Amino acid sequence: MPRNNRTARAGRKAKPAVPEEDLKLELVRSSLRRTVTRRGVDYSVQNVSGNAEGEKTWICPHCNVDIKTGTAHVVAWDAVRGVDTRRHFHTQCFNSFQGPLL
Ligand SMILES: [Zn+2]
Repeated sequence: MPRNNRTARAGRKAKPAVPEEDLKLELVRSSLRRTVTRRGVDYSVQNVSGNAEGEKTWICPHCNVDIKTGTAHVVAWDAVRGVDTRRHFHTQCFNSFQGPLL
């Protein structure tokens, strides 16, 4: 066996590191939309990693306390009536929220 072959094969196997792919995956995972049914009503639910400084703050319709800037929370809307019904909830509040979404 000529030594040159082994060297070339080993060189081809080496793949460049792709940290960008991990970042993208994280982004997709954090914004993943799911459907949750509460009392027979389907809600589309999406995780929000947190609004930026200076952006609008949201009042959680479950506890009526505002969601502070940069707080990870969820946005949910009536899957039938559409995104116009969307409201921002504290993650824990949405877990105990039973609807309806006004
Ligand atoms: Zn709340």
